[in-house]
Amino acid sequence: MHPLLREELTNQYLEINTKLPKGVRLRFTHTLRTMQEQNALYAQGRTTKGKIVTNAKGGTSWHNYGCAFDIVILYDKDSNGTFETASWDEDKYFMMVVNYFKSKGWFWGGDFRSFKDSPHFEKTFGLTINQALAKYNANDIVINNGVKYIKIGG
Ligand SMILES: [Zn+2]
Repeated sequence: MHPLLREELTNQYLEINTKLPKGVRLRFTHTLRTMQEQNALYAQGRTTKGKIVTNAKGGTSWHNYGCAFDIVILYDKDSNGTFETASWDEDKYFMMVVNYFKSKGWFWGGDFRSFKDSPHFEKTFGLTINQALAKYNANDIVINNGVKYIKIGG
């Protein structure tokens, strides 16, 4: 995640998991997807082998800035200690997680008007995706663990 979001999201992840009952767990399926990773995905089926898997070039997703994550709810339905069921149903616990993250200021992809993406959450610091890409391209960045992130504020 973006360095400004990492600690907050770690704490929120731990907190919401303590609020969920035994037998129900929140996990993240995707967090940061770097520009390089996104561009490699975009190339697949176009200039490299394989099937086309995305229409998004690097920079067009908040995942590329470390400002988005996707969730899954895991269930241990037979109570044998193994979380065998992955669910994206908008059920009671999914919505409990949604409302928790919304209360912490995350924008929920389920509220998108055009393309509903209910596992997805993002925080954009008041920027549009084009403004974020402009910052990135202008090298208005910080480098953390070898990854370029857009500089926020100051
Ligand atoms: Zn997402």
